[in-house]
Amino acid sequence: MIKSKAYAAQNATSDLAPFEVHRRDPGADDVQIEIQYCGVCHSDLHTARGEWHNTIYPTVPGHEIVGRVVCVGEQVRNFKVGDLAGVGCMVDSCGHCYSCADGEEQYCENGFTGTYNGPVFGGENTYGGYSQTIVVKESFVLRIKHGEKDLASVAPLLCAGITTYSPLRHWGAGPGKKVGIVGLGGLGHMGVKIAHAMQAHVVLFTTSASKIADGKRLGADEVCVSTNREQMAAQANQFDFILNTVAASHNLDTYLQLLKRDGTMTLVGAPAEPHPSPGVFNLIFKRRQLAGSLIGGIRETQEMLDFCAQHEIVSDIEMIRMDYINTAYERMLKSDVKYRFVIDMASLG
Ligand SMILES: [Zn+2]
Ligand SMILES: [Zn+2]
Repeated sequence: MIKSKAYAAQNATSDLAPFEVHRRDPGADDVQIEIQYCGVCHSDLHTARGEWHNTIYPTVPGHEIVGRVVCVGEQVRNFKVGDLAGVGCMVDSCGHCYSCADGEEQYCENGFTGTYNGPVFGGENTYGGYSQTIVVKESFVLRIKHGEKDLASVAPLLCAGITTYSPLRHWGAGPGKKVGIVGLGGLGHMGVKIAHAMQAHVVLFTTSASKIADGKRLGADEVCVSTNREQMAAQANQFDFILNTVAASHNLDTYLQLLKRDGTMTLVGAPAEPHPSPGVFNLIFKRRQLAGSLIGGIRETQEMLDFCAQHEIVSDIEMIRMDYINTAYERMLKSDVKYRFVIDMASLG
């Protein structure tokens, strides 16, 4: 058994505070990673505060994990001590359902095991990346080809990166396609960078005119202020695909009417209150589709990391110490971060 310093929430109203977790000794197919950086995802906050009503306390959040391999089991083939490695939102799945067989473990029929709060689908509790070390089955560990100097900025790719890459790839973002990204936060800023690298024509939709320059810097060909009626009307019936990253409940028709015939809008934000149901006429008159998407499978997560390394894509981050996490959560609620907090795990001491 390996003892690891960590940060945990003891209940829905307590701040995160120092805690000790026990990791299993690495088995034959396990990789032990010394965690160097961990990104801060909105799901961490929802889980720490019990906002999805499924949290098992104490809970140690964190599923944007990067670090260095310090131990491998005897059957591990693809990692050796000293390698850079990453862990995202999942650490296991059933391995035999049709989704797992397709490499889409995030849709496992029997429920994947989350990197933290794992027993939602049964089994022992799992503790995430706000900790010094983690032991994970080799088949759920990702390779990192970015240089070590970029390591902290790579961490958010493990959730924010794959959450946007997977739908962009699935719905065919690429040359000649007009792609909308709704919302410029942790997810949206990755969506803009990735869709731009896929060579789509990218339009960023934001409520805030102050984000126009930043949107263009990140790779948007156009930035449209969604509260401006003329700007929105000029975009009607043109989009092949819209990736909607907004987590707050809002009127989906505003964006559905921008899709051209057979276009799709995919939701990746998880609102606490449901969106109002969209108008059916907006869908049936142009055979438009409204869809959802959850992270990506392990194979696709590796593909995304390799794509981002090749295109020199990382997240825009603000590095924080572990003991700043409660303040970081408050700032995240106000969207006061460009665009992802990443914890320097050396600050755990
Ligand atoms: Zn996440
Ligand atoms: Zn499965």
